[in-house]
Amino acid sequence: MMHKVKTAVCYLLGFIMAVGITSCDKRQEADLQPDKLLLISFDGFRYDYLEKAETPHFDSLAAGGVRAEGLIPVFPSKTFPNHYAIATGLYPENSGFVGNTMYDPDWEEWYRIRDREAVEDSKWYGGEPIWNTLEKQGIRTGTMFWVGSEANIQKMHPTYWKKFDDAMSFKARVDTVVKWLSYPGSRAIRFGTLYFEHVDAMGHRYGMDSDSVKAAIEESDRILGYLKNQLRRRNLWKQMNLLMVSDHGMVDLAADKVIELDQIITMDDAERIIWGPLTLIQPKEGKKAAVYEALKAHEKHYRVYKKEEIPQQYHLKNHRRVPEIVMVAELGYTVLDSEYKQPFLQSLPRATHGYDPFEKAMQSFFIAFGPAFKKDTTVQAFQSIHLYELMNHLMGTTPADNDGSLDSVRVLLK
Ligand code: AMP
Ligand code: ZN
Ligand code: ZN
Repeated sequence: MMHKVKTAVCYLLGFIMAVGITSCDKRQEADLQPDKLLLISFDGFRYDYLEKAETPHFDSLAAGGVRAEGLIPVFPSKTFPNHYAIATGLYPENSGFVGNTMYDPDWEEWYRIRDREAVEDSKWYGGEPIWNTLEKQGIRTGTMFWVGSEANIQKMHPTYWKKFDDAMSFKARVDTVVKWLSYPGSRAIRFGTLYFEHVDAMGHRYGMDSDSVKAAIEESDRILGYLKNQLRRRNLWKQMNLLMVSDHGMVDLAADKVIELDQIITMDDAERIIWGPLTLIQPKEGKKAAVYEALKAHEKHYRVYKKEEIPQQYHLKNHRRVPEIVMVAELGYTVLDSEYKQPFLQSLPRATHGYDPFEKAMQSFFIAFGPAFKKDTTVQAFQSIHLYELMNHLMGTTPADNDGSLDSVRVLLK
């Protein structure tokens, strides 16, 4: 209702301006526009990374907005399932997006994040991402990279979107989304995304406490400063709600934290293995008991579950893309085979993610800033699954079916 009144006033002011009898400047005009929303992801930005480096821009947005003690990812705490869960409000078992690497037994097909054909194929992406929800309700959106936005989900795309290209400079990404936000009239977007991968990449390659991670955090801060500057120059800053998020945390790996799978099970009994902190094993026909019992007998520094035993809070078991046996490694442990052990040891120090999302180390950071949010407030960690509901609330739209609830995040709002 308020938006409608504001819009009507603005049209009137616009008309008066057009005939040249008012001093109403552009700034006032901008103040009367409905609020816009930017969802910004810094990949692999742990909940405590702001303490690691000088981050004046993050700090000032946190002081003027709301910070959470952590953002709890979905399981597995990997990039693709988490970006897609933020976009849809759905747990992996309900969106079907159960990993960075997936095998679908019905289709007998693989999904891998570097396989462009799969990444752009809508059939892997269940549910309704936020850009579709908004576009269906008349709001223009633009994704300056986001997992899922390159696929024709529900035969739709955001109005403006880009294919992921890690060679595109961070400045160019900001310039592009700011351009979309500042198009004249109805061409302008009201919802946009930004995505930056460098903090995650440096964490993997050099470990959490490396100078490279510190430098990447500081670079993120400079990007934020540049974004703020550009939005201010276009009189957009005051009407922007910003959600600064990440998809998961990070933990260092270690030479003495290895689980050698081929020392535990007969590898020949496995039809398929997807390796990682969550290792997925599809046993060969008739071999399920042998594989499970061997893993159970050696259950140290990992948990093993038959599919039907996977704990409820992981929200993973009700999907065909999850195989019959899963192993969840203890934080910091690596599941590998003897062949990979040597190269793994040589590649240390390094870090990864993908572990139990309720481990503190897997939590990421969250700051919200803008007219809708409280100021100078810190709230407890909450699950990223609720952000879809929050975004709908901010945009005044009706959400599609999802697993989140606005009540879980209302504490952020003024
Ligand atoms: P991971 O750390 O293995 O969970 O994956 C992170 C990587 O995903 C990043 O380093 C990016 O290069 C990559 N990535 C992020 N978004 C996309 C996308 N839309 N398409 C392809 N790769 C992406
Ligand atoms: Zn990630
Ligand atoms: Zn990563």
